[in-house]
Amino acid sequence: MLPHAIQQRVHQTCLPFWRSIPGWREASDEEFENWLWQERNSVTTVDGLAAVLGEQIAPEFMEDLRAGMATAPMAMRLTPYVVALINWNEPYADPLRRQFLPLASEYQPPHPLLRLDSLDEHGDTKTPGLVHRYPDRALFLATDHCPVYCRFCTRSYSVGLDTETVTKDRNSPTRERWERIFKHIRETPTINDVVVSGGDCFRLKASQITLIGQGLLAIPHVRRIRFATKGLAIEPMKILSAPDWTDALIALCDAGRRTQVEVVLHSHFNHPHEITEYTIAAANHLFSRGITVRNQAVLLRGVNDDPVVLAKLVKTLSDLHIHPYYVYACDLVDGIEDLRLPIRRVCELEKYVRGVTAGYNTPAFVVDAPGGGGKRVVHSYELYDPELGLTAYTAPSVKSGAVFIYPDPLSSLSPERRLAWLDPERSKEMLCSFTDRARAVL
Ligand SMILES: *Cc1c(COP(=O)(O)O)cnc(C)c1O
Ligand code: SF4
Repeated sequence: MLPHAIQQRVHQTCLPFWRSIPGWREASDEEFENWLWQERNSVTTVDGLAAVLGEQIAPEFMEDLRAGMATAPMAMRLTPYVVALINWNEPYADPLRRQFLPLASEYQPPHPLLRLDSLDEHGDTKTPGLVHRYPDRALFLATDHCPVYCRFCTRSYSVGLDTETVTKDRNSPTRERWERIFKHIRETPTINDVVVSGGDCFRLKASQITLIGQGLLAIPHVRRIRFATKGLAIEPMKILSAPDWTDALIALCDAGRRTQVEVVLHSHFNHPHEITEYTIAAANHLFSRGITVRNQAVLLRGVNDDPVVLAKLVKTLSDLHIHPYYVYACDLVDGIEDLRLPIRRVCELEKYVRGVTAGYNTPAFVVDAPGGGGKRVVHSYELYDPELGLTAYTAPSVKSGAVFIYPDPLSSLSPERRLAWLDPERSKEMLCSFTDRARAVL
């Protein structure tokens, strides 16, 4: 249940929009606003989606989706909240639909440079569940579960596989894995900053948030802790209706503040349609309790590759005191070539957004350099050849001497160039000669 005062405020301005979905026409405010109802009614199959949408949706669309899911590497999972925010009268164009539901008609073959785990997180994994790439920061992959599954997820190689569940008892493999992670961090004094991600922290129980947070707070050289979650964007009612989860986070932030350790939340909003009265109430609650929230967005074709949409996202988040931290160029991930953009477009969008609002609320547009170079500001390339569709970055303080290449989607290239990329011999040659050119300008 939402606290009464918050519920009243939300209901003054927000209509029960979910009642336009036939399957949830009868759902009461209390049900929709209850996080457990959201999770119990999450949609995980095409048939399940067809059942809640009923007659409202064209059979051709459902067939397109069924065929898209059949080859998609990522499972389906959507909260009723997200399903209800999609405009089902125009499902092809809807920016939320495009993030979560693959269509066969939109499929584009992958770029030949695609590799599974393109950021080479395996190469930087020090103990299972801990990616340690930068000297002072580490990524703690606490769980492989998420409240939703995003098509473009960088970790689609690891999330949603049900390899291990986080709900087992104290002696579970998860608990042992976490202990080994704590041990590695404890024994590595250069690690000052830990990102707890996954998967998604929303799938951790309150007691697990506390366990991880206290485990990290007990390590003297850990100065900063970030909990990363898509939850605020796709199930904001949980912030308000699961007080134990939110209070666990708030208690950690308070405990951190007493020992000069910063504990913050990182969110993942990509489009202004994801921000509702529920989001506003949840963000206000977090702000009033002194929790810093930063947002990391992913730039996606047909979702938010529009200066007006991005400017609105940045402004709206700023007004909720959610700092727009990063906008990522979409990683090379299997099955999502239709969502990627060429670097020249990412640069254009960055130019437009810079100046819209305060500098400290202006996100850095970054490319997570394939091969493990880490995040690079998009404009900081050593060499860009838009005709070839290749960009070269270096990362002197991460991997000195290495050149990292990000490829533009083939759809942004000329037909001749596209054909050349489809030939393995010519691909190799283009990549080698471009890398040589990049080295020559260093
Ligand atoms: C993104 C990331 C971090 C955190 O990087 P920041 O730029 O500080 O946000 C740390 N480790 C890995 C492996 C990452 O991918
Ligand atoms: S919620 Fe985050 S970790 Fe989970 S699928 Fe989406 S992007 Fe990946």
